[in-house]
Amino acid sequence: MSITRHPDDSTLMSYAAGSLPGALAAVTAAHLSVCPRCHDEVAMMELLGGTLLSDLPGAAMGRPVPAAPEIEYAPPVGPIAAPAGEVPPPLARLIGHDLDALRWRWISRGLWLRWVPIAGGGKLHLFKGAPGVVVPEHGHHGSELTMVLRGTLADTTGEYGVGDVCDLDESVEHTPIAGAEGCVCVVAQDHSVRWRRLLVRLARPWHGM
Ligand SMILES: [Zn+2]
Repeated sequence: MSITRHPDDSTLMSYAAGSLPGALAAVTAAHLSVCPRCHDEVAMMELLGGTLLSDLPGAAMGRPVPAAPEIEYAPPVGPIAAPAGEVPPPLARLIGHDLDALRWRWISRGLWLRWVPIAGGGKLHLFKGAPGVVVPEHGHHGSELTMVLRGTLADTTGEYGVGDVCDLDESVEHTPIAGAEGCVCVVAQDHSVRWRRLLVRLARPWHGM
């Protein structure tokens, strides 16, 4: 699996802070289970978040942040286990391991949908597109996180393969098209406001580390 498209830093930070709605957290967790880069980034965010928080009580304003955290970050032993099938473990807990065993609802020519009940806010669904099918604009007013589980998907922001995530906010209108082999994707949508701007600003000092 060659992953080239990742969730935004703001999404990863919200995930690390435990503030992502359930649907978006499920897709992010699915991506983290197949993407060592984002997995490590979130681990680092959690570590830094803990360090900053533990530094807060009684800390004088302007006190320098310790140059190096005293806790040593231990990367997971060995490579992250690849999922046994197409469905990453965090999603398999919700939908099972077999995409073909799901009951799909036919939406339009070459397009099927499957809603997935999810706790914690946001909406989660899967869609299956036949080769070349154009996914109609589905009117998201908030954040939308799409991860490809099978095949490829393309829109104006680029092409997405298995494991890739398309992370959009409401400012982007897109009309995804299923690739030559069709595609199955999981999509999380959220209508509530995320702290996108604030988090991006906070992320900047160590972005690209
Ligand atoms: Zn990633």
